[in-house]
Parts: sequence; structure tokens; C-alpha cells
Amino acid sequence: MATTTTKKATSKDFIELENKHGAHNYHPLPVVLAKGEGVHVWDVEGKKYYDFLSAYSAVNQGHCHPKIVNTLKEQAETLTLTSRAFFNDVLGPYEQFITRYFGFDKVLPMNTGAEAVETAIKIARKWGYEKKGVEENKGQIVVFDQNFHGRTTTIISFSSDGDAKRNFGPYTHGFIKVTYNDVDALREVFEDNDNIVGVLVEPIQGEAGVIVPSENFLDNIRKLCKENNALFMADEIQTGIGRTGSLLAVCGDCTCKGHCEKQSSYVTPDILILGKALSGGGYPVSAVLANDEVMEVITPGTHGSTFGGNPLGAKVAMTALEVIRDEKLTQNARKLGQIFRDRMEKLITKTDLVCLVRGKGLLNAVVINDHPSSSTAWDICVKLSENGLLAKPTHGNIIRFAPPLVMSEEQLHECCDIIEKTILNFKK
Ligand SMILES: *Cc1c(COP(=O)(O)O)cnc(C)c1O
Repeated sequence: MATTTTKKATSKDFIELENKHGAHNYHPLPVVLAKGEGVHVWDVEGKKYYDFLSAYSAVNQGHCHPKIVNTLKEQAETLTLTSRAFFNDVLGPYEQFITRYFGFDKVLPMNTGAEAVETAIKIARKWGYEKKGVEENKGQIVVFDQNFHGRTTTIISFSSDGDAKRNFGPYTHGFIKVTYNDVDALREVFEDNDNIVGVLVEPIQGEAGVIVPSENFLDNIRKLCKENNALFMADEIQTGIGRTGSLLAVCGDCTCKGHCEKQSSYVTPDILILGKALSGGGYPVSAVLANDEVMEVITPGTHGSTFGGNPLGAKVAMTALEVIRDEKLTQNARKLGQIFRDRMEKLITKTDLVCLVRGKGLLNAVVINDHPSSSTAWDICVKLSENGLLAKPTHGNIIRFAPPLVMSEEQLHECCDIIEKTILNFKK
């Protein structure tokens, strides 16, 4: 019998392959993952980690959730794609399911987050011209400083991030940028401007470093939009679907999704944008939800996507949303988030390296006490990975901690122990 001499590929080999053959559009931590289950991932050498990024909150339901995987397998063997040239027997039930789940009349299905944001922008503009009566090509959308809404040419046109924007012009017009969490500034842009068709906002700014606005910021956006006949557009691609301890971050402290007695605390957006955890990571699925008065501006031929609303994605999304509800992941995120922040507050009293913890539910960040251009946060993340926990710095000196929502309290404490040990032993 011939002996096998093929050497098993190592992490280093895979990193070299990516560096050689892939565009360098990301700067990953030097960890090569080969397997995931629940809150854990394993690298190619078999080392086990807690995942504290959750693919930027796409795997809220945990890696390879058995129910989601099962749905994916079953539907993949039945029917995957028809295009919207024909009806299919999954899309209608999915549309009914998701609109009831979030409390809107209609949904427009897409695939990636950026596509859903683009869709929302197009709907708002068309609504502005056809319903509000804004003169064509004069419509404006208010956005916020330090926003992150995706990577298309239009979306990066209103980005504050130089790398995301530089040398990708000419840019798309029609956006007004206002300081996040500054209600007065927002009120000012509405003064003497009848051309504003919508306000596009992240209820918590995730990529900017988990910036939580003050209590009534969203309420005020809602009010100003109402007073000025503009659409309140909530990008909940990262914050939605249980992540922040309520079904949507716009729900504030209410976990009922707007159908309970506390409905007043549910700041209903006119346009809700979802992605990421809408599929639990099994497949790219995004969606834009709105009521009839808004969504009816979309007519045949005005917008679409070959894969948007395909039966595979639609079926997966239904299961992903069922898992959130059946396993009470929203409630779990709320409970564990409080524990996490309490533990970090305690850690802050023991070290000068961490100066702040902030967040909601299981979308949290700690601010490292060093200059944003320093490598300290990155170096801490490398140490964390060596100690079995994966997290990624954002904006230089901020580390986001966002594990899958299926974590147990015991596991969370173990993770806080790892973070504490890593920080207290860290030497610059
Ligand atoms: C990730 C994200 C997007 C973009 O989603 P993609 O699927 O990467 O295109 C848009 N908005 C927010 C708030 C996000 O976090």
C-alpha cells in the first residue's frame, strides 16, 4: 500500500493563498477557521475559540444552527431559484410571515445588506417625487456622520470613512450629513427645506464603535420626520433581530416587536432595513419592509434582483426568525448583555488599559485607553485569539464584543474571565 506523503495544509498555507490570489480588501486576524457550531469556531489546527464577532452579527442564531442547516438542505434539494419571472410556493408564505413578524404591510426581498439599503434609498426618492411632490432630482436624504450602510457607489458617497470613499468618485448627490445624536442639527436641516424625503439612520452605530444614542434620539427623528413629511428609515442590518436585547433596536426597551401593551415605546420606522441575521448566516438574505402607502411606489420593472426572494433564501429566513423567537434569543441577549457590561465595568476598576464599555444587549464595545492610530487594540485581539476568543478592533482603539445570542450565562462568564486575564496580563 502506498504511503500518503501529502502534508496537511496549515493556517499559514491558507493565509498565503488568500494573500496571493485574493484582492486585499480586508485585513483579517491571522486565524483560519474551518468549522463552527453554536458560539464556537475551530481553526484548521483544531484550536477552539469563542466567536465574539458573529460575522458582524449575521450569526445571531449561532454557527450552523441545526434547524437552519436542515431547512437549507431540504429546500436546496427541492427548489433553489426561479427568478421572479414566475411565482414560487415559498415566497408568498415568507412575505406573510416576515410582515406579520415585524408588523408591516409589505416586504421587498433582496440579498445583501447594501442592496437593501440601496432599495430603501430608491423607494424613499420615488416616494418623495410621487407622493410628497418633491421636484424630480431634487430629493435629499439625511444621513449621519460616521455612518456605515454598505459598499456600493451610492452608499459610499455619503460615508465619512476616507478609505471607503477615496478615489471611488464621482459620487451620488442628494445626501445631507448631520452629526449623530444631534437633534438640533437635524431640526435645522429640515428648516426651509421641503426636499428632504427621508432620514436614514442606524439605531446604534455598529461599525463606528457601537455608538448608542441618547434615550429619545430615535423618538425625535420619528417626530421630525412626521412633522416634515419625510420617511424615517432604520438600518437595522446589524442591530436588528435580537442583537440589542429587543427584536429591533428601535423597540427601545420593549421586546414585543410593537404588538404589546407597551406599543408606545416602539418607534416604528417608515422603512425597516434588515439583513445579516435574517438568514442566521446560512445564505445572504436581506429585506426592506414598509407599509402600503410607501411600498406602492414600487411597480413592475422599477426594481428587482435575480436572487431576491428566491425560495432557498426565503425558507432559510423563516427558520432563522423562528429560532430567534422559539429560543428566546432576544431575552437572552438582554440578560447576558447586562452581565457582560457589569463584568467589564469591574475590569475597568482594575486596569488603565480599558477606559469604557458601552452597548446594548449583546452588541457591546470596550474602548482601549490608547490613540486610535496605535496598534494596542489589534495586539489585544491577537492575544485574545491566543487565549481562545475572537474579537476584532474597529476604529483603531475600540474592540467590539458581539457573540452569538445562543450563549449560556456560564459560557459568558468564562469569556469574561478570558478577556479579564488577557487585559490584565497585556504588556504593550
Ligand atoms: C453590514 C451592514 C451593512 C451592509 O451589509 P452587507 O451585507 O455587508 O452589504 C449595512 N448597514 C449596516 C448597519 C451594517 O452593519
